[in-house]
Amino acid sequence: MNHFLSKIILCSCLYFFSSCGLINGEDALDYKEMVKGCTNKNVIMMVCDGCGFNQFIAADYFNYGEKGQQPFYSFPVTIAMSTYSKSANVYSSQKAYSIPDWVRSKFTDSGASATALATGVKTNNNSIGVNSDKNPVKNVTEVAHETGRSAGVVTSMPISHATPAGFTVHQASRTNYTEIAQNMITNTHLDVILGAGHPLFDNNGVAVSAEVVLDSLGNSIGGTPFYDYIGGASLYEKLKAGTATNLDGSWAFIESLSDFEKYASFSSDSLPDRLIGIAPVLYSLQSSRGNGPMPSDTIVGEHPKNTTVPDLKTMSQIALNLLNKNENGFFLMIEGGAIDAAAHEKSIARTIEEMTDFTATVEQVIFWIENHGGFEENLLIITADHETGFLIGPNGYTDKTIDYDLINNGKGKVPGHSFHSSAHTNQLVPLFAKGECAESIEKTLQGIDFRHGSYTDNAVLGTLIHHILIESMPAE
Ligand SMILES: [Zn+2]
Repeated sequence: MNHFLSKIILCSCLYFFSSCGLINGEDALDYKEMVKGCTNKNVIMMVCDGCGFNQFIAADYFNYGEKGQQPFYSFPVTIAMSTYSKSANVYSSQKAYSIPDWVRSKFTDSGASATALATGVKTNNNSIGVNSDKNPVKNVTEVAHETGRSAGVVTSMPISHATPAGFTVHQASRTNYTEIAQNMITNTHLDVILGAGHPLFDNNGVAVSAEVVLDSLGNSIGGTPFYDYIGGASLYEKLKAGTATNLDGSWAFIESLSDFEKYASFSSDSLPDRLIGIAPVLYSLQSSRGNGPMPSDTIVGEHPKNTTVPDLKTMSQIALNLLNKNENGFFLMIEGGAIDAAAHEKSIARTIEEMTDFTATVEQVIFWIENHGGFEENLLIITADHETGFLIGPNGYTDKTIDYDLINNGKGKVPGHSFHSSAHTNQLVPLFAKGECAESIEKTLQGIDFRHGSYTDNAVLGTLIHHILIESMPAE
């Protein structure tokens, strides 16, 4: 074929990917070339679970009265990203704006999307770090270890929930919490794991009895403690006793707010080599408190927050300082995991509350970067695994049109909106990046969307990050 013609066809495919089918990343994209000369020390990926563009905009309107005020909006890379899994609808810009039922059917779950971001491999929903044949595929925390770096995960959800699991272990099903937690804790090279999922506290951070009330048949009446998120009762006891180990050594363990706050004030030198921290709360730091998120929650801050748990910012500060002990650098995944939980329940108030916690953490991470080598050494990527709730403007949709625009009611006021799904959707999600090698992301574009412009894809981004870590491997 004429070389010029083949180039046009390739370009057409790159830019109108949805009509050409999946570009096989490994074949069509020259990742090695894209990352040539990158000298990253650290890569930090922040995953906003369940966040489309409108979840960000809702918080912008509420907190600032306008869009675009936060620092990440002026990052050099501000694009979109497709999130579909192997078992889902391939992204189509045309369908995303004209067929409401397409938007909310055959979408990715958090397991498949985390796997794509962490391994570069599209897999079926429910999968954790395995391909569609259920074979393990290498994840980014494993690549970090192979390149001499440290690695860790931080989340506002249980440590073994889908997103942190997808970045660290390999399991056929995301609901195998006990096995996931056991693998994360005992069978990896991870250096820090911080999140929720405490067996001895409820969703309000209130202690539950370790001696479960039994009925006459020996069945527990309350159903608690729930040890699965932390890998079972005996592993919990080992963590407390300081005898739990992973492939590299023993874990330090914290579980009280005062310890989280104390550790957040420590410099790298004062922190242990390896740390697991389980906040004293079960399902999420804040979003499940009280009766949990509800569609009727329209007043931000109406329900008093749990006061006995750390926030995402505090946990992230600990992780950054601990990982920074390694002069070769690190990979860290920070998940704002409860935005998804709030949007599943169509709670705009808790969606905004959780977004606010996430973006406050982003600001903290930026501050940390500026004081630890700057963006010359660090790459910060802020993105999402999928949209949740089909959060759109108050006019909703018709058979052929979707009103995506939220109505700005000003600072401190919930924007005009409507939710149209209690599940995930196929919408594109935002991607912001700044730092060493950030521009390589713009070489991975997969199409141009009618509304959001250029977009890449979650599996393509995952593959690229592996290459960034390998290319900038510290010298022996
Ligand atoms: Zn979800």
